[in-house]
Amino acid sequence: MMAILFALFIGLAIGSFLNVLIVRIPKGENIAFPPSHCPKCSNALKWWHNIPLISWILLQGKCAYCKSPISKIYPVTELLTGLVFAVLAMKLGLGAEWFVTGLIFSLLLALSIIDFEYYAVPDSLNFTALGLALLLPLILWGWDWATGDLKTLSFYKNELIRSFKDGAIMAAAFFILGFIVKKAIKKDALGEADIIIAATMGALLGLPLALIAIYIAAILAIVPAFAAREHMVPFVPFLAMGTWVAYLFGDTFMKWWSLLYA
Ligand SMILES: [Zn+2]
Repeated sequence: MMAILFALFIGLAIGSFLNVLIVRIPKGENIAFPPSHCPKCSNALKWWHNIPLISWILLQGKCAYCKSPISKIYPVTELLTGLVFAVLAMKLGLGAEWFVTGLIFSLLLALSIIDFEYYAVPDSLNFTALGLALLLPLILWGWDWATGDLKTLSFYKNELIRSFKDGAIMAAAFFILGFIVKKAIKKDALGEADIIIAATMGALLGLPLALIAIYIAAILAIVPAFAAREHMVPFVPFLAMGTWVAYLFGDTFMKWWSLLYA
């Protein structure tokens, strides 16, 4: 219970930093300077204006200086990130796998919100998520070595090869799919950002689970895609949700899969 609470607080803090990334990166601003300030009146925030979730509630969603409303996106991002880290702690316990996987899903969340607001995804965050997913077996090897829980070296080596292989397969599949769809409907359907996320999904989930995640994403996207008609529907949030569901319930999905092919 303490571990899950700890994970929740870590997640809330990381969510608070994600808000900085979400607001500043699409505008091309520095993420470290200047310190947090109100976008309306530019007054610098005091530390007690900056406590994840709590400050937003205490300030009743308004700037402490000029009383202009603060977007609900901020507390929502913090809460979702907190929940991601808490749920992952239940599944994985605390450790390197929990933390790095939490970071990957935090980045996918940030990419989702940015895609939703700007219809564009910054490569910097996207490639960071991919790098973490690809190198996770290497990070785990370091962690297990440091904590004295080292498995056989071939375990980490095989996992590393698998993450690169499945990442490459998913990227290639999305690239080809995007090419075919573009020829068919004469419109860009899958962007470069989607291809990078597909690679992250392959590396993190492995095959065939990554395909199940795409399937879930497509099903979730059907209704909004029809509702929006010719408007663009950002696909990244659905890919992120599909990845999350597949990651949490992967064991169940794989059991069904093996029953089908038994
Ligand atoms: Zn203000």
